Amino acid sequence: MSGRLEGRRAIVTGAGSGIGAAVAKRLAADGARVFTCDLKGEVDHLADVTVEGASAALVEAAVEAMGGLDTVVPCAGIAAFSPLEGHTDAYFRQVLEVNLVAVFRLVRDAAEHLKQAGNGRIVTIGSTTSTYGDEGLCAYSASKHAVLGFTKSAAAELGPHGVTVNCVQPGAIDTPMTAPAFEEMPEYRTFWENKAPLRRLGRPEDIADVIAFLCSDDARFMSGHGLWVDGGAMVR
Ligand code: NAD
Repeated sequence: MSGRLEGRRAIVTGAGSGIGAAVAKRLAADGARVFTCDLKGEVDHLADVTVEGASAALVEAAVEAMGGLDTVVPCAGIAAFSPLEGHTDAYFRQVLEVNLVAVFRLVRDAAEHLKQAGNGRIVTIGSTTSTYGDEGLCAYSASKHAVLGFTKSAAAELGPHGVTVNCVQPGAIDTPMTAPAFEEMPEYRTFWENKAPLRRLGRPEDIADVIAFLCSDDARFMSGHGLWVDGGAMVR
């Protein structure tokens, strides 16, 4: 599919690791110019997306570097397993700040550019826990349900300007985010491998390929969707 995203100019956050890194690579392989952001790693723009003003500065830097902006994929996210009683106020707020508030701010601050482009694309990253719950994931699941709701309303509002907004909902993906839990609880890894009819964990590229499709002209009439990309795990 090389060249499918030729001429597109994209911001990808969380691009220093896991799914975000794979997305940046895939969009670039399809011909897009990509402006990457993360807290750490080999990216174009080092920033903490939860700091007020960070998303406006990111959009400004990206527009200056690429001469415009039509695609936004906010992949930065955090997760940790903790029983409900172990959720401090600070932890709960931090999860919402990264997984939800920072997504909202980036979409808001990029919206004008995407409207001007006339064919803007936004792909948020939810989770299968945007639809279902799981033990130890109260804060995470709350943030991911909210990001799916945000996606649908943003799709309603930005659609008249030609901007599509969709939410990819990964199942269990093998990344540095999940590695500690899978190492500590091998039975949790096995559970997810067996739950998926495709009988394996996902790889970052499994998610990146779907996101590239949603960013392309092939997906021009799809908006407001939450798409499970989970090896079929949620069918049962
Ligand atoms: P990851 O930990 O490999 O990558 C997340 C990246 O986000 C890291 O590079 C991290 O530095 C960056 N980041 C975190 N906080 C940040 C901040 N405040 N400012 C800037 N960057 C920040 O994790 P991943 O598995 O690649 O997750 C990517 C996205 O996919 C997240 O939104 C996550 O919730 C979602 N997701 C992952 C899975 C999974 O099983 N791995 C499943 C469903 C959804």
